[in-house]
Amino acid sequence: MTTPINTPNTSWLNGRNLLDNKLINNFLRSRWYPGIIQWPTLIIFMVIMFELILGPESAHDNFGTALTWVLWWPLIPIIFLFLGRFWCAICPFAKINDLVQNFVGNNRPVPKFLKKYGIWIIDALFIFITWSDHVWGVVENPLGSGILMLTLTTGVVVSGAFYERRTFCRYVCFLGGLSGNYARNGMLSLRGTPDICATCTVAACYKGTDNSAPCPLFEFPKTMTSSANCVLCAECIKGCPNNSIQLTVRPPTKELWFIRKPKLEEAFLSAVIMGIVFVQNVTMLEVWGSMLKWLENATGTTNYAVTFSITFAIALTIPVALLGFTSWVAGKFNKVSLIENFARFGYAIIALDMAGHIAHNLFHLLAEGKSIYYTAMGLFGVSFHGASPAILDMATIQFLQFGLLALGFIGSLYVAYRIAKMNNTSGNVWGTFVPYAVLMVVLTIMNVILFTLPMAMRM
Ligand code: SF4
Ligand code: SF4
Repeated sequence: MTTPINTPNTSWLNGRNLLDNKLINNFLRSRWYPGIIQWPTLIIFMVIMFELILGPESAHDNFGTALTWVLWWPLIPIIFLFLGRFWCAICPFAKINDLVQNFVGNNRPVPKFLKKYGIWIIDALFIFITWSDHVWGVVENPLGSGILMLTLTTGVVVSGAFYERRTFCRYVCFLGGLSGNYARNGMLSLRGTPDICATCTVAACYKGTDNSAPCPLFEFPKTMTSSANCVLCAECIKGCPNNSIQLTVRPPTKELWFIRKPKLEEAFLSAVIMGIVFVQNVTMLEVWGSMLKWLENATGTTNYAVTFSITFAIALTIPVALLGFTSWVAGKFNKVSLIENFARFGYAIIALDMAGHIAHNLFHLLAEGKSIYYTAMGLFGVSFHGASPAILDMATIQFLQFGLLALGFIGSLYVAYRIAKMNNTSGNVWGTFVPYAVLMVVLTIMNVILFTLPMAMRM
């Protein structure tokens, strides 16, 4: 991958440093942070696990299902937008990793194959988990959700027992991959101050000190140019002897056009996420039943694994193929290879990905939100049988969904333009940008059509 001609603009450092605020500074430096949020999260996670495995068999009545898929899952991309990868700092799996490491950790170095293929492994896991959710009904089945959580817990325990820092979070966790991509679009940015770090030889932020852990995600704030792998755990803030770390607010999407070394696997993931949002929407449509019937007739089988796999493969292929085709067309103007254009401009889709993802999850949160309260009361024997779980009516939810898609479209369009401008080797910015603008229009229209059709409830 060639490096863009223009050097990255670091003007985000001129943004207001949140660490100048005494309250924020003291909180992040405190020995209570992030534990004060991590421990309650771990306790809630244990309650969820108990409910998923031993609670009501119907997702409709299960408090663990409601907390996980109606509250946590919809909130997570919104957290990524405002706070970057902060969730990963308080994630129960990360805490379990640290606890196991403290007791039996071997602290072996990260295996080379994980470093080399980590993001591809994350891509594959993300695709597999989405596929298995539909084929084996993970979300609709509390026990299935419990087994998914237990599988992830086993992975974290093994990783914590054998490998150093948070190897699992950085190189294996599918949510880590998703959050990494979304955190690039997020509004928080943590970096070292270049002038201060330039003369520093201790690298306490990376290695840790007596009072702070080494960066759990193997990041080095001195050279960091991305928020993809910063979980805002504040260990570097505590450890840096030179007070170099800055935590600034930036407009969403700003990082996406400054990516110095675009990676094909990350661009691929952003196209795949779009396909996954398509699949999640399509399978919730009321017309999905008729589509299945048609597929069964066409393939001659009623095996759901087969018919869904065909739909899944088509949905994932569409955005990847469209991005590939657009990159080929843009290559005619900017004289850059298809692969290189794909890797560079794939990041532009992230804003639309995020908007589509939040818009989809908004349906669960707002159309099924009261189920959290109903299932919680169910623990005490109170029944709300037949009561509507909706917090807002469908017309309002759709209005919000289209508003989000409009913002995502503008964000993706702007990022594509900035990437075209940053990498202007041929003098033809518009020739490069226009094909990607058309791509964003097509992807947005596909999303709008899907959000226009009536959806079936999960709870
Ligand atoms: S952040 Fe602090 S410890 Fe890390 S390189 Fe910069 S000055 Fe050194
Ligand atoms: S860069 Fe700092 S805040 Fe970010 S993950 Fe590493 S130690 Fe934590």
